[in-house]
Amino acid sequence: MRFVFLGAPGSGKGTQAGVISQRLGIAHVATGDLFREAVSKGGELGREAKTYMEKGLLVPDEITIRMLLERIVAPDCRKGYILDGFPRTLEQARALDLALAEREEAVGRVLYIKVSTEELVRRLSGRLICRDCQTPYHQVASPPKVAGKCDQCGGELYQRPDDNPETVRKRLDVYFAETAPLIDHYKEAGRLVEIDGEGDIEKIGQEAITTLTKD
Ligand code: AMP
Repeated sequence: MRFVFLGAPGSGKGTQAGVISQRLGIAHVATGDLFREAVSKGGELGREAKTYMEKGLLVPDEITIRMLLERIVAPDCRKGYILDGFPRTLEQARALDLALAEREEAVGRVLYIKVSTEELVRRLSGRLICRDCQTPYHQVASPPKVAGKCDQCGGELYQRPDDNPETVRKRLDVYFAETAPLIDHYKEAGRLVEIDGEGDIEKIGQEAITTLTKD
């Protein structure tokens, strides 16, 4: 069970990856979360990643690939994992294929979560995230029960610094230029499965599990 979740920022891939990885008992590996963790620790990786993240740009492939390949050999990845936000470039996809092939492994299904651009902008501009458990909320569409507090763990909610309108536009441009070509890459490899990412979150999750696990 080695899955890749592909979709634009705001497509809901983080939300779905969180729920589905728990249901399947596999690891949820989100490169954005790994970078944010590194930024809050303040080491060299974090300092370097921050300069790209705050501009809405991709962190260079070399750094990202190294971090991801180290992460997926951790014990919690043994049963499988969902990659959320990786790969984001063809070079990352090729590096992943190569590293897995060396261990006689391969990526399984790649779930493409499709959402219209207008909906992406709407979601990202009102998004709030829990500082502790990363659960996402939306100021209008799915607010927390108590303002500013996470329903799941009581943690503090915050707006990601890269969720401001200007950076959101940049991140979407980068997605369409660099990441969207991966849809064809995985289609040609016969691995792509696609679902509609607009509508009821639970129903989308159910459809995603069915699509990922059917024979
Ligand atoms: P995300 O939480 O997935 O939206 O990622 C937040 C930011 O982290 C992105 O805008 C990039 O700057 C960086 N990032 C996350 N994943 C990658 C990746 N696979 N390649 C390059 N940069 C990434």
